[in-house]
Amino acid sequence: MYRYKDIRKVHLEITQLCQAACPMCDRNENGGKDNKHITNAELSLEDCKKIFSPEFISQLDTMYMCGNLGDPIVAKDTLEVFRYFREHNPNMWLSMNTNAGARDSAWWTELAKIYNKKGAVNFSVDGLEDTNHLYRQNVKWSIVENSMRSFINAGGKARWDYIIFEHNQHQVEQAEQLANDWGCQKFIKKKTARFFSTARNVGKEEHQSQNRKGTETVLLKKPKEKFQNRALSKEQELITQYGSMTKYYDSCKIDCKVAKEGNIFITAEGLLMPCCWTAGRMYKWWHEDYRTEQIWDFINRAGGKEGIDVINNELSSVIDNNDLLSNIKASWDIASIKEGKLEVCSQKCGIGFDAFKEQFE
Ligand code: SF4
Ligand code: SF4
Repeated sequence: MYRYKDIRKVHLEITQLCQAACPMCDRNENGGKDNKHITNAELSLEDCKKIFSPEFISQLDTMYMCGNLGDPIVAKDTLEVFRYFREHNPNMWLSMNTNAGARDSAWWTELAKIYNKKGAVNFSVDGLEDTNHLYRQNVKWSIVENSMRSFINAGGKARWDYIIFEHNQHQVEQAEQLANDWGCQKFIKKKTARFFSTARNVGKEEHQSQNRKGTETVLLKKPKEKFQNRALSKEQELITQYGSMTKYYDSCKIDCKVAKEGNIFITAEGLLMPCCWTAGRMYKWWHEDYRTEQIWDFINRAGGKEGIDVINNELSSVIDNNDLLSNIKASWDIASIKEGKLEVCSQKCGIGFDAFKEQFE
């Protein structure tokens, strides 16, 4: 897929912890109790020093913290890890995605200083004071406002990512105005891809949320058509053309998003995966045994978690000598998912259906 010397981007999931409870996030059951398969693993500065040598950092263009299961604002060593990367590469781009609902002004000011204009924060804020918490459950608006304004006032570049649902579609323009007033550099109207179930390969109209106690909260619904993800409307066309989404996934060509960028993903357990989508299949809460997911066939053939552990193995040797990446790549030429083509690659990087890219169109 790529060689160690070709890596230019690192996507780091520093933690599996989060103070929020978004109903479509894999770290919890529809906003309810925590995913039973996760351990709230987190990378420390010491772990990151073991994984990323100064020489490796100096070959990078970008390091960004996001991930599948946690938010970098709650990790203990987030600032120190960014500082370590900055120290060994004064020009690389540093960034992170966050719900913004934690940390004080001093923390956000320090983050802006470390980035030193070569970096940005993507604030995931899906509404205004009366609506943001309907999806970003447990996130307090006053903290969001303080975080964004403190970071921007300290010279930080901010982007506001706004996922549009039925319940917040009437506030898009008002939020865009607020983003301008506060000094955000960009406002992204995100047309969510989450109304497509990759577990069942079928589009859906709504999603029932619950709170930590298991009580039903908001029924999330798709926004009106102009805010809907255009890829989702292709589902019927593909079914007509191929017979079913599964048949499309069997035969589609793969255009791997991370191979061409030289982009690797490191999980909060310190495991190498090519991207967040493949890693995102590891711990689905709705399985009794998470290892029933197809991605585990690939991980097991690569020596299990020990084989792709980059805290206790050299990152260079896991990228260049371990079979995980080469087996994933080889699977793209297999005739069907049943015979071993990695389904998540067809779902995320099949050239006929790209709900991820359409989120930003
Ligand atoms: S803020 Fe991110 S990590 Fe936290 S619950 Fe929401 S989607 Fe998941
Ligand atoms: S899902 Fe597969 S094809 Fe897509 S970026 Fe990840 S490894 Fe590459």
